[in-house]
Amino acid sequence: MKEELLSLTPQELTETMRALGEGAFRGRQVFSWLHKGASFEEMSNLPKALREALAGRYDAQPVSILDTVTSKLDGTVKLLYRLRDGHVVEGVLMRYHYGNTLCVSTQVGCRMGCAFCASTLEGCARSLTAGEMIGQIVCANALLASRGEQERVGNVVLMGSGEPLDNYDNVVRFLRLLREEDGLRIGMRSVSLSTCGLVPQMRRFAGEGLPVTLSLSLHAPNDAIRRRLMPVAKAYAMDEVLAACREYIDKTGRRAIVEYALVRGVNALPEHARELASRLRGMRVHVNLIPLNSVPERALMGVSEAEVAAFLGELRARNISATRRREMGDDIEGACGQLRRRYLQENRE
Ligand code: SF4
Repeated sequence: MKEELLSLTPQELTETMRALGEGAFRGRQVFSWLHKGASFEEMSNLPKALREALAGRYDAQPVSILDTVTSKLDGTVKLLYRLRDGHVVEGVLMRYHYGNTLCVSTQVGCRMGCAFCASTLEGCARSLTAGEMIGQIVCANALLASRGEQERVGNVVLMGSGEPLDNYDNVVRFLRLLREEDGLRIGMRSVSLSTCGLVPQMRRFAGEGLPVTLSLSLHAPNDAIRRRLMPVAKAYAMDEVLAACREYIDKTGRRAIVEYALVRGVNALPEHARELASRLRGMRVHVNLIPLNSVPERALMGVSEAEVAAFLGELRARNISATRRREMGDDIEGACGQLRRRYLQENRE
């Protein structure tokens, strides 16, 4: 397989161009084209010989769109992407009044094993490169352009398949590429990174100078319940996870989000809400309640609207900022990872 260039920084591309006998300015030119989704052929301000030399050695775009499903209700688009080695990953383009938000995958599958998540059912095949993460945004931008839309992707949430901090170096590289002047120019304040609570990586990430919103998948008010839903809880106690979250908030000055999927018969009772409120007291967090999309393979059940309202009421009564997550694209495919799973099942010999 040819090398991909989309993972490289402008400085690294400049070195690559120098090695090909080109002037340093070519690095920024190529960087800018790549992040616009161009093929080498389309790089019109490059000499033909250079375009041919690049095409002979490298792949310009490591990701392509395999399929899309658009919601008739709210315009949400589910995307299925193909990577160069044939793996597929999923993404979601959400249309809000303030702009377009893309949910990006960081791994093919996931090895974290959360009980409510379809992305982990077949484990993790491999981690994505930074270029493959950028490539998902480049593809979504091309889709928007092809539909005659003026606005491009302005916000990114790392909440697709994969645990971002389990692919640490590539994710950090991706975030640095994201804000490049000649690239997508998406600032860190427009990015959210979701983690299931890998404590050492959370601590390290707090020192990177990349102040994204940290979205902590907590999903339980105590260790016993958390261990039932999330194997990672056997490695890190909730106290340690919350301490790492506090450290992140203190270092970055950003409020964190606590994700909490309500699962009937497991973590959704008013007493669980009261216990959660006591654990989060004094933290600058907002709780995002997620009525569970049922995962048939795991026999997990969601809750009623009345149960969501009761849980929310208990948190708010204790001055914990909390909302119920708005469902997007209800008419297309429910839980994350299910479009990809269906594709894999249909295309299996
Ligand atoms: S919820 Fe996130 S961390 Fe957990 S298995 Fe799914 S993708 Fe992995």
